[in-house]
Amino acid sequence: MNRDELRRQSAAIVGDTVICPTCGDESVNTTITQEQFSYGEGSNAVKLVAKVPLRTCSKCGFKFLDSDAEDAKHEAICRHLGVMTPREVQSLREACGLSRTEFARLTRLGEATIGRWERGALIQNAAYDQLLHLLSFPENLRRLREREAASVAAVTRASHEATESRFRALTGEHLEMRKRQQRRFRLFRGEAA
Ligand SMILES: [Zn+2]
Repeated sequence: MNRDELRRQSAAIVGDTVICPTCGDESVNTTITQEQFSYGEGSNAVKLVAKVPLRTCSKCGFKFLDSDAEDAKHEAICRHLGVMTPREVQSLREACGLSRTEFARLTRLGEATIGRWERGALIQNAAYDQLLHLLSFPENLRRLREREAASVAAVTRASHEATESRFRALTGEHLEMRKRQQRRFRLFRGEAA
């Protein structure tokens, strides 16, 4: 691959059509090529290889890489780190039959965070990746659903009991007791003044 010819373009894909950023022509051919790149810094830096789509304009001959190449490199980094790729995270959520909002509520992850993982804007750390992995087993998803249902029931029960106890406090001897307490309180304030 001639490095001088190669340019990176982020906006070359419109819909499914690849457009040449130099001449604007749509007759762009794609070949898969291996690209080596470094990941990490200092002594932690490693060389990774990704299979990226190289675009060649058949009209003007311009060669370029676009966001699909970036996605391929992002996937190579995820493989290197041993975590799920953005596509895998999205597939997992969809296999659970959940929207991002529903998935966020069930897992208590941030909805925006899930979006970033799925778009490849952020890589989930190893611990979050373990959680995602566990959710690929339906029984674990079921456990979270049960926990959520129990938590909703507990909140409803607590709110119901609070309403009942307020009601009880205002009836019969509770009301009488409260009046006595209020009188004592006023008396105490009077003495203190
Ligand atoms: Zn062109």
